[in-house]
Amino acid sequence: MAWNIVLSKVMTVLWLLSTVVTQAQSNSRPWSPFKSVPKDLASKFTRNPQALSLASNDFGKIVHKTPKAVFEPHSVKDISALINFSNSLPNPFTIATRGRGHSVSGQAMTRDGVVLNMTHLNAFKHGSRIKVVCDGKSSWGCYADVGGEQLWIDVLNATLKHGLTPLAFTDYLYLTVGGTLSNAGIFGGTFRFGPQIANVLELDVVTGKGEFVTCSPEKNSEVFYAVLGGLGQFGVITRAKIPLGPAPTKARRVHLLYSDFATFTRDQEYIISFNERNDSSEADFLEGRLLLTQLALELSFYPTADKPRITSLVTKHGIIYVLELVKYFDKKSEARVKQEVEDLIKKLHFIPTFKFEQDEGYVEFLQRVHTAETFIDPLGLWNVPHPWLNVFVPKSRIIEFNEGVFKGIVVQQNVTSKSGLYLVYPMNRKKWDDRTSAVTPDEDIFYSVNFFNFATSGYEHAKRFEVQNQLVLKFCKDAGIKIKEYLTGNKTHEEWVEHFGSKWKLIEDRKAEFDPNNILSPGQGIFQ
Ligand code: FAD
Repeated sequence: MAWNIVLSKVMTVLWLLSTVVTQAQSNSRPWSPFKSVPKDLASKFTRNPQALSLASNDFGKIVHKTPKAVFEPHSVKDISALINFSNSLPNPFTIATRGRGHSVSGQAMTRDGVVLNMTHLNAFKHGSRIKVVCDGKSSWGCYADVGGEQLWIDVLNATLKHGLTPLAFTDYLYLTVGGTLSNAGIFGGTFRFGPQIANVLELDVVTGKGEFVTCSPEKNSEVFYAVLGGLGQFGVITRAKIPLGPAPTKARRVHLLYSDFATFTRDQEYIISFNERNDSSEADFLEGRLLLTQLALELSFYPTADKPRITSLVTKHGIIYVLELVKYFDKKSEARVKQEVEDLIKKLHFIPTFKFEQDEGYVEFLQRVHTAETFIDPLGLWNVPHPWLNVFVPKSRIIEFNEGVFKGIVVQQNVTSKSGLYLVYPMNRKKWDDRTSAVTPDEDIFYSVNFFNFATSGYEHAKRFEVQNQLVLKFCKDAGIKIKEYLTGNKTHEEWVEHFGSKWKLIEDRKAEFDPNNILSPGQGIFQ
């Protein structure tokens, strides 16, 4: 009897050991979910727990999907080979291109397919994948020739070594070139320089058919415009040529506080109107942000002595609107720029005495969101669920939006957070190129409204923000405000058709042309 017990214990231990060993082997060795994989591809599939965990998550921390495998390309050729292999199967598998996975609704994920980890290309430097070219041969002037997997911060740092800079950015630079070009890439400078998708000279793309195409407005333009703002649906962006300009060294940052929304937006529209009229500008950057008691009042920009009176102002009015304008300069232009900024401010209608100015280094300014990240991350306030909502609102309805959404929903719902940011700023449609796949409202000026919610108390907290987001969308629908969502996910097929509106037929045609087996970026849910 005793022997039986010992024997059964030994058997159990042996079984456990063999399971652990088998699992360890399958986790460490290259693994492919498919029979008859071409030899050169087989070693690039992995089910390494770390790779799987990365591919099953994104910045949003709300959607989780585990793929069959992760594909780690060593070169652009591997990407074509992967796509060709999928297309060669009777049932092609889906391929979710992943940049830095800073989407918030699983846009770079797939459950039944393969995640293509673009940043793995960084491990195989066949020469640098960021080059600055000023050869004087092309009409393009200087440009950066960069891999689609590169981060914008690395592009910026490389160009600055030549005294040059890209013009169009996002507020946060730790995103990949391919990732932001698949959306639009907007920030406070968009009214002046256009979105990032309007600042591209040429692309290399591997289409959903596995074809490698170099494209530009002049050459293979159908592919070029399809992938810009194309949500990863038509091809993988493997390289981009980005125009560059002289890099300023400093940024003059001005914050002006308003309690009246109509006055605030009138001043914002006045500032961007210079650009509308003659393509010169009184400002290089214009955003607006809400100071609310619901979100932790982030007042680091303001002098310590002024913080109490700003807090009192917010308490008194419930919402304060901050107009942020920035103008870049260097040593030579410093005196002139500062005078121009002062002249402009005199024409604006903020609350007297609530004007704050400060000079920062150009890079320091562009890195401001990352600086906030490094500050709040150790407090556990950055890597939390992010139920974000981003919408473009036509100018003609923005006052109603303020009443119905900011005052009516956000203040009433009273979902508080220890961090988060709400932005509202205008852009002009003429800086966007309607041939791209991106969609905007049907008015010359529209506002970008960003609810960057941080669910600092976990998933129940995230749900409350999600309810708030749904109320915002419902309010717009009921009021007939024709918004367009930006960076959106979680839509039904019908909602996507409505989202693309008059562009839907074009999007369908592009899909049929460039990804006929419907394998690319299933996480967007457009054709699923
Ligand atoms: P991923 O999340 O990896 O991918 C996004 C989509 O693009 C997926 O569908 C994916 O399949 C596809 N994709 C990725 N790479 C490629 C490629 N090479 N070729 C084709 N398709 C590809 N956006 C703004 O416009 N302005 C902002 O100011 C801004 N600020 C942000 C701040 C933070 C903190 C965060 C987290 C996001 C911000 N975003 C902003 C949103 C951001 O631009 C998008 O989420 C973008 O997709 C992130 O890039 P990524 O490399 O992480 O892409």
